[in-house]
Amino acid sequence: MGKLSAKEFDANFSVIEEKIEAAVKKIGKKRSDITLLAATKTVDVDTINYAISSGITTIGENKVQEFLSKYDSISPVTHHFIGHLQTNKAKDVVGKVSLIHSVHSLKLAREISKQAFKQGITQEVLLEVNIGEEESKSGFLYGEVIDAIKEISQLPNIFVKGLMAIPPICDKAEENRKYFKKMYNLFVDIREQKIDNSSMEILSMGMSDDFDVAIEEGANLIRVGTALFGKRIYI
Ligand SMILES: *Cc1c(COP(=O)(O)O)cnc(C)c1O
Repeated sequence: MGKLSAKEFDANFSVIEEKIEAAVKKIGKKRSDITLLAATKTVDVDTINYAISSGITTIGENKVQEFLSKYDSISPVTHHFIGHLQTNKAKDVVGKVSLIHSVHSLKLAREISKQAFKQGITQEVLLEVNIGEEESKSGFLYGEVIDAIKEISQLPNIFVKGLMAIPPICDKAEENRKYFKKMYNLFVDIREQKIDNSSMEILSMGMSDDFDVAIEEGANLIRVGTALFGKRIYI
């Protein structure tokens, strides 16, 4: 394995599982209602494969090049793409991942549709919502999401399955509760509209520092990196 020992991973994983259990219990949900995605950026392939052998079922990379370089060496697992995706790189992930979390523009959605059509598949996606209305972040603004889904649902070979958000960086997890609440309300509003050729099944929000708060507010897919694999060292 890499820098992280198996023992350290096991300990991290069990702490996370305990926190998930506690959060679902609080709101009357079951553990099986929540998908834990391991965010594997900068994590070496051996460590990722160890995580998979330990019970991680879903992993997500955030950079296309890193995703491609690891892809062939990774044990069978569900792959998601969670990072910013440039339109000209859509072709590299379409068909290789079961879910793209980060559709941030109609232009990108059209390209995903085109590439999926070429491959004869349907690509499932989430729309990224810039819930904190931050200039530094991509994603649809709160008020744009419904129209975007209506438009994307007209495209062939792409299917919107829910929403994803990365709230502003903050000191305390509690500070993000309001954003998680806002996302959940939007998610439910859209679900009730029952837009053809789309569904609201997945609400992807919550990371290492705040996934328990996100679950309490309705997230059913959490993306956890640091809390599983330790602090990332960027070279
Ligand atoms: C890295 C990453 C995560 C996980 O972040 P941690 O704070 O390390 O848990 C979640 N979502 C996205 C999009 C990421 O790039």
